[in-house]
Amino acid sequence: MAATRSTVAAILVAAGSGQRLGADGPKAFCLVRGRTLLEYAHSRFVAHPLIRDVIVVAPPDYVDEAKTLTGATVVAGGATRQASVAAGLAAVDSDVDAVLVHDVARAFVPAAVIDRVVEALAAGADAVIPVRPVTDTIKRVDDARRVVDTVDRSTLVAVQTPQGFRRSVLVAAHRAAPDAAATDDAGLVEAYGGAVVVVDGADESFKITHPWDLVLAEAVVDR
Ligand code: C5P
Repeated sequence: MAATRSTVAAILVAAGSGQRLGADGPKAFCLVRGRTLLEYAHSRFVAHPLIRDVIVVAPPDYVDEAKTLTGATVVAGGATRQASVAAGLAAVDSDVDAVLVHDVARAFVPAAVIDRVVEALAAGADAVIPVRPVTDTIKRVDDARRVVDTVDRSTLVAVQTPQGFRRSVLVAAHRAAPDAAATDDAGLVEAYGGAVVVVDGADESFKITHPWDLVLAEAVVDR
């Protein structure tokens, strides 16, 4: 497959509630220095020379607002992230053969990460995920909050987005487990028996989840 400009689409999932952030509305519409997370994320994909189409998946009540903010094709999301990705996939043009799935909560993904994911697809990978090394020590604990063991972190990575897929592989993985409520599309491909390769992610691709992450987001914008 040649993943050229004419064949790559990005699905930006923005239909989550963002309860952990404690914002008034959905997380994607949360403002950082006067712009929504959706606008920050969208600007990175729409400006990228290797991406032809951008599809935004918004909460059903926010489809019009998302269209106004981005000018993108916008579809209504579902109750789970997987359902939202499936809604986005259904809206991808038939001539597209590579799809990137990105969490709008990772609003500041650098272009270099998008480059690495698309390049790995162009080199023949079926599924690609950007990752970072795990820096905390990781322990397994039981229900009684006792430490069971310490995990060897040298074999662990933290997974970011955009995750990239040959479109046919992602469609097949979703069809094989439509109700898995997967929080990660690569996990569906793994369960389906597909090979997933990793590329380097970036610190700026941090996921905005808790109120503290907004402080970091403001710092990124100010820089
Ligand atoms: O909730 P969490 O931050 O893990 O969600 C990851 C991404 O998936 C977010 O960008 C969120 O908007 C999106 N999502 C979605 N539809 C859902 C749940 C989450 O598009 N039902």
